[in-house]
Amino acid sequence: MSLDDVDNVSAIPKTMKAAVYHQAGHPATFDTVPVPSPGERELLLKMRATSLCHSDVGVISGEYGPGVFPIIGGHEAVGIVAALGHGASSYGFKVGDVVGATAWHGACLECSGCSYGKQYCDTLKAKGINAPGYFAEYCALDASLAIPVTPPDGVPLERLAPVFCAGITVWDALERAKIRPAETIAIIGAGGLGQLAVKYAAALGATVIALDVRDEQLEACKAPDGTGASHIINTSGLTSPELCKRVREVNGGKLLNCLIVTTGALPAYAASFPLVAPEGRIIAVGVPPGPIPVSAAYLSRNNISFIGAKIAGTESAIRCLDFTLSRNLLPKIHPRQFKLEDLNEMIDLMKAGKVENGRMVVSFK
Ligand SMILES: [Zn+2]
Ligand SMILES: [Zn+2]
Repeated sequence: MSLDDVDNVSAIPKTMKAAVYHQAGHPATFDTVPVPSPGERELLLKMRATSLCHSDVGVISGEYGPGVFPIIGGHEAVGIVAALGHGASSYGFKVGDVVGATAWHGACLECSGCSYGKQYCDTLKAKGINAPGYFAEYCALDASLAIPVTPPDGVPLERLAPVFCAGITVWDALERAKIRPAETIAIIGAGGLGQLAVKYAAALGATVIALDVRDEQLEACKAPDGTGASHIINTSGLTSPELCKRVREVNGGKLLNCLIVTTGALPAYAASFPLVAPEGRIIAVGVPPGPIPVSAAYLSRNNISFIGAKIAGTESAIRCLDFTLSRNLLPKIHPRQFKLEDLNEMIDLMKAGKVENGRMVVSFK
């Protein structure tokens, strides 16, 4: 299908500016490339805001192998529907709609994986890794995986972009944890993902304990109005029995009902198992480089559930967006309004761990 076959293309240019990663370890270049033509079931989005995720840094550092290059980066964003493929309107979208754009793209809707959820498609693609991403003025998106957004008055779309990777990832973990009010949950890893998990868990009525080895990240989890962590524990230098003792001290003598590991650090996983009470749940979000040391005897003796949570589906993402907006839990974003050409500087800041000011967002205004 060419752009000329698609409705409402009059204002769409033939070319656009895009941030392209050409090879591992090299900065993105800002290339002029053709505006994509939406496929049969695709939306053409005019991008409004795209935020930088740690996975982007992984791509540009070569963690996904040399085969991904060249690639337009970016996988969490908000855009406006500029045109639709002929089969896309049946998903309820029209020109001018605001859409949340996640990493997932190109579900076949026919394979056995898709029968469990489109996010499990055997041939699913990931934006910014093996499908062109959102650090571009336009992007084509699978309409079956697009998230409809009704932005409240006065909420800039930049605030919403991080919901569509960071937000939905931790929300999905909390849904899988089946967290109940009055339970105590610990979030291990108090970076951007962990801070969002703390906010959501507290809003769900849980008592939240944040664990990390970095004081400044832990402090960011606290909120004077009760919307943050009830307790923070710096785990640096603590032995496993000492950490259990600290948790019991702040939790009425008890261990945890639930624990979400947002970091990929192996010691975080090793520390997590002894902290969970009988019938507790451990949710794995962060992916360590090697196997996780876990004793099946320990899990079975205490009826502990060890649950993976990495890929949120569309329905979970919609529930996340609803909860985020209704409870005013929008992710913290960097006060500076970045332009596409600032992307390499943003990547350098993230590599240096300078993320305390919030998610960095490129605005396409
Ligand atoms: Zn991401
Ligand atoms: Zn499929």
